[in-house]
Amino acid sequence: MGNSVLVIAEQRDGVLKKVAFEMLGAGAGLATASGGSVEAALLGSGLDGLPDTLAQYGATKIYVADDDSLATYSSEGYTNTLADLIGKVEPAIILLGATAMGKDLAPRLAARLGVGLASDCTALEIDGGRLLSTRPIFAGKALARVKLNGDPQMASVRPNVLAAPEPDPSAVAAVEPVAAAAGQVRARVVDIVGAGAGEIDVAEADIIVTGGRGVAGPDGFVPIRDLAKTLGAAVGASRAAVDAGWIEHSHQVGQTGKTVTPNLYVACGVSGAIQHLAGMKTAKTIVAVNKDPEAPIFKLANYGIVGDLFEVVPLLEKEFQALLSE
Ligand SMILES: Cc1cc2nc3c(=O)[nH]c(=O)nc-3n(C[C@H](O)[C@H](O)[C@H](O)COP(=O)(O)OP(=O)(O)OC[C@H]3O[C@@H](n4cnc5c(N)ncnc54)[C@H](O)[C@@H]3O)c2cc1C
Repeated sequence: MGNSVLVIAEQRDGVLKKVAFEMLGAGAGLATASGGSVEAALLGSGLDGLPDTLAQYGATKIYVADDDSLATYSSEGYTNTLADLIGKVEPAIILLGATAMGKDLAPRLAARLGVGLASDCTALEIDGGRLLSTRPIFAGKALARVKLNGDPQMASVRPNVLAAPEPDPSAVAAVEPVAAAAGQVRARVVDIVGAGAGEIDVAEADIIVTGGRGVAGPDGFVPIRDLAKTLGAAVGASRAAVDAGWIEHSHQVGQTGKTVTPNLYVACGVSGAIQHLAGMKTAKTIVAVNKDPEAPIFKLANYGIVGDLFEVVPLLEKEFQALLSE
């Protein structure tokens, strides 16, 4: 068993997921503490240029399986290829993103390797030479600190929680092509249908405009979507709006939705319940639009507008459109 940290870097359509950079940042810290190095594994098809980006974020060596058979994600194909690679590299620690793909892949890979998995972690450290992972449990009411028996030690990491390092454009890494070993794949992806084609995922967005119960119905999301479109933003939602069936769960921000860290978060008709704040409180700039001046969201917001969102949001949209077309 070596002492390297292997980050499984996820890409979709040739674009690396942000969580890959966040894991490289955390992985570098772990590697320093354990005396190893941080490396990355990249799977897919047509991956030119991506290893350079991973090097800039700190990977010292990158294993690349670039093959048509890996063009779309398949549990078996990716597990087979990674199990093969891990057998050769023998990392001490393996990190994956707790994304839709990672949530499918990580447990399958752990089972294949016959090891444990700390899933959906929000902090990682080395304690007594072993990985110590922190993971929220019971919908975030408690934190479990997990140490795994056996090697390698595996953890999946919640996106948008750990800080990504600043990229170093001069960094270079060794790139090692590895053979795809997709093997016999019994379940094949035949089609991928994106939810709301063209929509930006809140977990990846730089700007988010969110609607809460205050939008009062599915049609209330029309001005929210208009403002989001003008700003090039993703549309977020509180759980109240999702539970009411006004918008799909993929938009939900918060403890039981997605954790987000955009530069700008515009909360409209959202009261600011603790479970909502848990998912967005680290946004750089928070703007709140609410007709109740006592709404708790104003305690966190950098800018607050007390008013009816159905008046304020279209006005904001008009102003931004004028400003951005200048
Ligand atoms: C275990 C658990 C997990 C949870 N997970 C989540 C989660 O992931 N995400 C989440 O969001 N919630 C979550 N919740 C629910 C959370 O507690 C709140 O109930 C929810 O966030 C409230 O949503 P809201 O702010 O949209 O609605 P409300 O609290 O009802 O607030 C609506 C706000 O809109 C304002 N408003 C109304 N009309 C207008 C108008 N025309 N113009 C301007 N403002 C207006 C009101 O003044 C009010 O402040 C969770 C709860 C539990 C118990």
